[in-house]
Amino acid sequence: MRAEILAVGSELLTPLRSDTNALYLTAKLLEVGIDTGARMTVADDAGLLESAFRGALGRAEIVISTGGLGPTEDDLTREAAAAALGRSLHRDPALIEELKARFARFGRVMAPVNEKQADVIEGAMVLRNPRGTAPGQRVEAGGRLLVLLPGPPHEMAPMFEEQVLPVLRQRAGGRVVRTRILKIAAMGESDVEQVVAPVYKNFTNPRTTILGGPGQVELHLTAEAASAEEAEARIEELASPIRERLAGRIYSEDGRELPEVVGALLQERRLTLAIAESCTGGLLSARMTERAGSSAYFARSWVPYANRAKVEDLGIDPALIDGHGAVSEEVARAMAKAARERAHADIRAQRHGRRSRAPRAFPERP
Ligand code: AMP
Ligand code: MG
Repeated sequence: MRAEILAVGSELLTPLRSDTNALYLTAKLLEVGIDTGARMTVADDAGLLESAFRGALGRAEIVISTGGLGPTEDDLTREAAAAALGRSLHRDPALIEELKARFARFGRVMAPVNEKQADVIEGAMVLRNPRGTAPGQRVEAGGRLLVLLPGPPHEMAPMFEEQVLPVLRQRAGGRVVRTRILKIAAMGESDVEQVVAPVYKNFTNPRTTILGGPGQVELHLTAEAASAEEAEARIEELASPIRERLAGRIYSEDGRELPEVVGALLQERRLTLAIAESCTGGLLSARMTERAGSSAYFARSWVPYANRAKVEDLGIDPALIDGHGAVSEEVARAMAKAARERAHADIRAQRHGRRSRAPRAFPERP
């Protein structure tokens, strides 16, 4: 079963606002086993909107729009959707009364323009909006399901979750989709692909997506099944041979990032870390201290950025820098060694003086 999502709003086609509703909806649809075939962002323009609805309804069984349900001139979603379906709009007197009552609760009189929000597509079911004035709509038409949701995310999300998702779950036949992400370090995307493609090519469920990013590669294994347990079992069937082939390279299967995994390992092994970094300007230290409780293993770090700082702060031999250049394995090694030694020396001094919280946390190393 396929869905298409239309994000309605000219502001979404400028750099000022981005369409976050579609991301939310895509994730929710996946949970009930519905793939998104296409997503489109459409300006507040009657002609463009009508043709976008027509196109989406021609391709997908489920079409969901967000935005353009307000009371103003540029809110054209209702009209465009009705035109695309070839249906009329009628103004629902009961909805007008509800809108008026809502304004009254806030001590205001409803302006006549708001009556437009009571326009309902012929045959549509109205979706209540307790968090705003714009009601949503759900229409069945020729085997298609069209859903119109308001734009503000805090109105859209609960309306979808409470009044649309249960219907979609049933429509999708109670299918469940689960994704597991295997995160891989110290290997390039094409190397990973070469090693694991012969395995995952034999599977259509789960299907596999490979994503390269800075410093890591991710394998997304997505399975569809009648239950969560069955989906997980299917994933495991593929994950197991992949794990064998990528022995020692997968650092996370549960969403954790590399600094978190490394931090947990350090803590478990009662090891501590000293960092000397230069080009990264403190990035590594910042990431290694993100995790709560990182003081248990993160000792200290240096950012001797200038060559002179490397000499003065870490005692690096100027001849080493001259001979190999500051950005070289030799200098990096010397910096790491000096950092480890200096962190160690500091803790020993502390133990003689003030009480150290974790004296054994600095093991002797070769
Ligand atoms: P509208 O229902 O078109 O009047 O939208 C009202 C407000 O909802 C807009 O000004 C945006 O701030 C927000 N909004 C509309 N569409 C989206 C979207 N696709 N993603 C995130 N925010 C949105
Ligand atoms: Mg709008």
